[in-house]
Parts: sequence; C-alpha cells; structure tokens
Amino acid sequence: MHTQVAILGAGPAGLLLAHLLSLHRIESVVLETKSRSYVESRIRAGVLEHGTAQLLCDTGVGERLKRQGMRHKGINLGYSGEIHRIDLSDLTDGKAITVYGQHEVVKDLIAARISSGGKILFEVDDVCVDALSTNRPRITFRHQGQDCELTGDWLAGCDGSHGVSRTSVPPGALRVFEKNYPFAWLGILAEAAPSWEELIYAHHEEGFALFSMRSPSVTRLYLQCKPDEDLSKWPDERIWENLERRLSFAGSKKVRRGKILQKGVTTMRSLAVEPMQYGRLFLAGDAAHIVPPTGAKGMNLAVSDVWFLTRALADFYSKGRTDLLESYSNSCLRRVWKAQRFSWWMTCLMHRFDHDDAFELRRQLAELDYLTSSGAAATALAENYVGLPWEG
Ligand SMILES: Cc1cc2nc3c(=O)[nH]c(=O)nc-3n(C[C@H](O)[C@H](O)[C@H](O)COP(=O)(O)OP(=O)(O)OC[C@H]3O[C@@H](n4cnc5c(N)ncnc54)[C@H](O)[C@@H]3O)c2cc1C
Repeated sequence: MHTQVAILGAGPAGLLLAHLLSLHRIESVVLETKSRSYVESRIRAGVLEHGTAQLLCDTGVGERLKRQGMRHKGINLGYSGEIHRIDLSDLTDGKAITVYGQHEVVKDLIAARISSGGKILFEVDDVCVDALSTNRPRITFRHQGQDCELTGDWLAGCDGSHGVSRTSVPPGALRVFEKNYPFAWLGILAEAAPSWEELIYAHHEEGFALFSMRSPSVTRLYLQCKPDEDLSKWPDERIWENLERRLSFAGSKKVRRGKILQKGVTTMRSLAVEPMQYGRLFLAGDAAHIVPPTGAKGMNLAVSDVWFLTRALADFYSKGRTDLLESYSNSCLRRVWKAQRFSWWMTCLMHRFDHDDAFELRRQLAELDYLTSSGAAATALAENYVGLPWEG
C-alpha cells in the first residue's frame, strides 16, 4: 500500500489531520493499535480552546459539538474558603471555552472519516517504522493476521506518548526536555449533575482539587494525590469526603455526589522534543510533547500541531513548496513552549509540593489574590486559558 500521508494513531491528532488533509484532497491512511470502541470511549481531556472549537465547526465536524458542547464564559479559582470568578469572555473580547469530551471529538472525527470513505485500520499490531530519511518512509505492521506494509510520501507520528514514532528516530537526533512532578491526579467520573455551572480550580492545604463536568448529567472531579497512589485505599466515601473538604466555599453549594463510573490516576509530566521532525517523519500531539493537565492544553496543542502540518502539506501538494514543511517544527514549538509555560505555572500555583513550607503557601495565596484582584493578571490567565493565537 502507498499513500500520500501515512498517519500513525487515531487520537485527536491523527484523526483531525486525516480530516483536514481530505478537505485539501490529500490522501492518507490512518493506522491505530486499539479498537474503534476503545478509542471512542477513552475518557481524557474535555476543555476545547476557542480556536479548537471553531476549527472543528468550520471544517464540518462540529454539529454535535454545537448541540451538546457546553460553552463556558468563565472559570473559578477557589482558595482560602472562597470562590472567585475569572470572566474569560470579558477579558478576551468575547472568547470562551467549550466543555466537550475528547472521546466525543474522536467519535465525530471517526464518523466523518468513515462516511467520506477515508481509510482507517484499527487493531493493528507489531508496528515498526523505518526509512525515515528516504523519500518513501515505511510502516510495517500486522492486521487481521496478515503482515502488511504501508509507504507514504510523508509519515505523521500522531501515536501519543507511548507510540513508536518518536522512539524510532535515531538516538541524538532529537533533544528531549523533561520535567516530572511529585504528585498525580486521582480522577473520577460520576453520574451526578454538575453542582456548579463552570469549572473550579481549588487550592487547598491538603492539595489541589478540580471540579469539572463532561455533560449536564456527568461530573468529572480530580484530587491531587501521590504518583504511586493505591486506588484500593480510596473507597468512594473517602474520595467524596476529600472532594467535599477541598471544594468547600463560603456561601456556595456543595459537591453533588453520584455513582462513580470510573476512577483512575493520571501522572503529571512536562516533556517536549526538538525538533518535531526527522527526515520525512513529522511528530504531532502527545508524540512530541506532554503537558500536565492543569492548563487543559494537551488536546488543544495536538489540534494546533496538525493545523500547521496540514497547511504545510497543502502548500507542498498544491505549489510544490517545502518552506512551510521546513518551518513546521519551529511554528509548532513557539506555541508548544508557551503552553508548557502556562501549564507549569498553573500546576505550581495550585498544587502543594512535599517540600512546601509556610512561606511557599503564603506566596501561592498572594499570587491567587493578585490574579483575582488585578485586571492585568486576570487577563494574562484568561488569554492563555481560552488559547493563544496559533501564529505570532
Ligand atoms: C491517561 C491520560 C489522561 C489524560 N487526561 C487529561 C485530562 O484530564 N485533561 C486534559 O486536558 N488532558 C488530558 N490528557 C491529555 C490529552 O488527552 C492528550 O494531550 C491528547 O490525547 C493528545 O492527543 P494525541 O492524538 O496526540 O494522542 P492520543 O490521544 O494519545 O492518541 C494517540 C493514538 O495512537 C495510538 N497508538 C499508540 N501507539 C501506536 C502505534 N504504535 N501505532 C498506531 N497507533 C498507536 C493510541 O492508541 C492512540 O489512539 C490525558 C492524557 C492521558 C494519556
């Protein structure tokens, strides 16, 4: 099999890339190790930046998003037992975020791919990539018991943080920047109507908590925990008690309890590789960078990467130009590093570190006070949260 762009991974990056390329009549094949039902039910991110939601709507995959997505014009910061609203829209000329599960975006993109006759193979095994620095990069894999080979003019590594594309690049060709955090998030999905209308990022002496939602009847909640937290020590009652303590604010409602549908621990890491290209392989999304989820940037960065890559490939196929392909990595990295900075800053602002002393706690509280009392500081938070422009 030969195609113009061979894509590894059917997460948001790989699926959106295939969709955007098809609008430019560029052929691609998507290979995915998991099943369709697995990727369509994998609960992960849920906050779409203004530009992400707009791109999905403008390119014809936003019908359900427009109907079911929850447009939020603000977020809340909770600290010292009080809740403070940051009006995102007022501070950013009317921009907002949309709460819509990543798995719903994935469902919409798979449906669009299949209805347009685009090729996508699920449950592929033994994936290897080679010939990256030739004109015909190659993927070998097994599918339905057969040995298969796919070559492309270009290869897009959209296979997430544990994929093979990044690790197939020869040692030393990529520089890796990495930071680990001494905590994780214990996340639950609960069958409960959200108690509050907008997200709450809560700073608490016992550790961070996040109140969010995935739909009008499903709440998504997180608690700061240890990276090696043993979930068996967290019966439902202990989780709710902790959430109620950390999300308790004067004169405000309480967290509404409900049946816990899912529990998991998400580790926190910052990672970026430079450049995001080797030969004819382009890395996009989590294959190239990971951010801690505090700033809600992971899926949004995957979207902006593939927007840059589509633009470069469209220019190559329509005009024979390679300058945008050559500048792909630099264009993405400018945005990636700003999102890395923001995610790191939100993480350090909201979490308790093991080594924190009384000084550190006062410093965090002073910063939160500044953010919620200074228009300039609140604007800086708001413009990063709704998403910085993709260029410039
Ligand atoms: C466990 C977890 C929880 C998260 N929770 C949150 C959250 O709560 N909030 C938030 O803002 N962000 C969260 N994120 C971040 C966000 O979900 C990611 O940034 C986003 O999924 C990136 O999209 P992607 O397409 O680059 O990668 P992915 O979504 O990881 O997609 C990569 C795809 O490639 C497939 N794949 C892997 N290896 C191969 C291979 N060899 N060949 C073919 N296919 C392959 C994978 O199965 C997957 O479908 C979370 C991420 C993870 C991993």
